[in-house]
Amino acid sequence: MKMPVLFIGHGSPMNIIAENSYTRSLQKLGEMLPRPKAVLVISAHWETQGAFITAAPEPDIIYDFYGFPPELYQTRYPCPGSPEVAGWLQRMTQQQINTHPRRGLDHAAWAVLKHLMPRADIPVLELSLDRRRTPQQHYQLAKQLEPLRGQGILIIGSGNIVHNLSRVNFDSLYGQEVSWAVEFDRLISQLLLTGDHERLIAYQALPNAHLAIPTDEHYLPLLYAVALQTPDDNLDFICSDIQNGSISMRSLMLNQSPE
Ligand code: ZN
Repeated sequence: MKMPVLFIGHGSPMNIIAENSYTRSLQKLGEMLPRPKAVLVISAHWETQGAFITAAPEPDIIYDFYGFPPELYQTRYPCPGSPEVAGWLQRMTQQQINTHPRRGLDHAAWAVLKHLMPRADIPVLELSLDRRRTPQQHYQLAKQLEPLRGQGILIIGSGNIVHNLSRVNFDSLYGQEVSWAVEFDRLISQLLLTGDHERLIAYQALPNAHLAIPTDEHYLPLLYAVALQTPDDNLDFICSDIQNGSISMRSLMLNQSPE
């Protein structure tokens, strides 16, 4: 039985301490997931030249956001890492992914896992976004992660489908929704449901892509999840909230149909 694959919208760091329909959807999902041997998060917040995977046995938590309430910086997520899984992935991809011995976990990982797996007792690794790759090349690299599903490793893309910081309403998580953001989010959800990977990869050609994806670091983790979709996977949306007016929190699970 293969592990599910997730894409989770992480949105504002305020969700770390909030309780709302989004955080409840993550908690509910966490209760029904099979227990993985390890978790691999493809992070919107780690961009590198070449692809890297964290290999620290006890990864630090990185507070990579500024100007938020002190409570957020006191949050802990003391999970172990897994140098073994990191080394295995490096060998399996013939060094297309290289281990990083010291790098910790940014909030793309722990802000989500705090709700999804609050006990922090499962090893967590992060994969960076290689800035030298095109969207198509990210998709191809993601396909090489496929064997991890059979090894009990839960793969999570963590970003946001619609993410434009210049159009965010920072005053409230749930307020007036912006129409272009809602429309773009719905279009992507249709492409996901019809399995139209080509248009998802060539997202720049979609209407309003320049507004929804002004920079692609939050969108690319979605392509990692999409690339791992097989014909016997069901696609379920875990959450479809819009937060801060224009951030799509749409999150999904790919899971094999029961025999
Ligand atoms: Zn982010």
